[in-house]
Amino acid sequence: MNEYERRLNSIKSLMDYAVPEGRQAEAEDLLDIYRHDRIALELLQEFYSFLPDARSDWVREIRLVRRRQGMFLLAAMTEVSGYLYLVSGEGVEFQGMLAEGPWDRDLLEFFGYSDREQFRAESGSPEGCQVYEPMDSDQDICPSCHVATGELHELGCPVELCPWCGGQLVYCGCRYDRLGIEVLESEEDLIRFEEILNEQGRIPYSPEQRPSFLDDGPGVLID
Ligand SMILES: [Zn+2]
Ligand SMILES: [Zn+2]
Repeated sequence: MNEYERRLNSIKSLMDYAVPEGRQAEAEDLLDIYRHDRIALELLQEFYSFLPDARSDWVREIRLVRRRQGMFLLAAMTEVSGYLYLVSGEGVEFQGMLAEGPWDRDLLEFFGYSDREQFRAESGSPEGCQVYEPMDSDQDICPSCHVATGELHELGCPVELCPWCGGQLVYCGCRYDRLGIEVLESEEDLIRFEEILNEQGRIPYSPEQRPSFLDDGPGVLID
């Protein structure tokens, strides 16, 4: 069983308790759309683990409110409400109701809102946000660290290319040549490497960097 299958099974067993009678099939259809999407699966697992209104409910659709540098502000839409979640490769956090907007000022600022008023005006209704596309079909997102086209990868992302040799930065030997050392062991080595890397100019994500097997169709996964 791979990571996705384990995650799917655990969400399905949570859904047995959470989803109201008669809605199971529709709720599972949505799960199926996102079966290869780590970000949406994080959200669904969180929703069904801690039902935000503490009663039976199910997610009808997921909307993308904003996204920046691998962080996604998503809305889980149910029949009665929209619930905001901040999701990234690092985890997931409930952020309140879509109609009210998030409380966290840093979060509002990070996504380009000056305050909750502006959030409510621009994004407070589902019509103001597009449906969230499953990641495996979105070419403009790094499949590993989830930054968008033109943004720098998270340092350590296996998709990032080396600006010296053009190979995979996490595997090539350039770090040792550039630093003049045999092994990279201390925090200082890492900081020094990041400095010379920035001086050289890092290569931001673009869709051509996607490993080609990712786009070969359904059923092919990265692990
Ligand atoms: Zn990346
Ligand atoms: Zn290299």
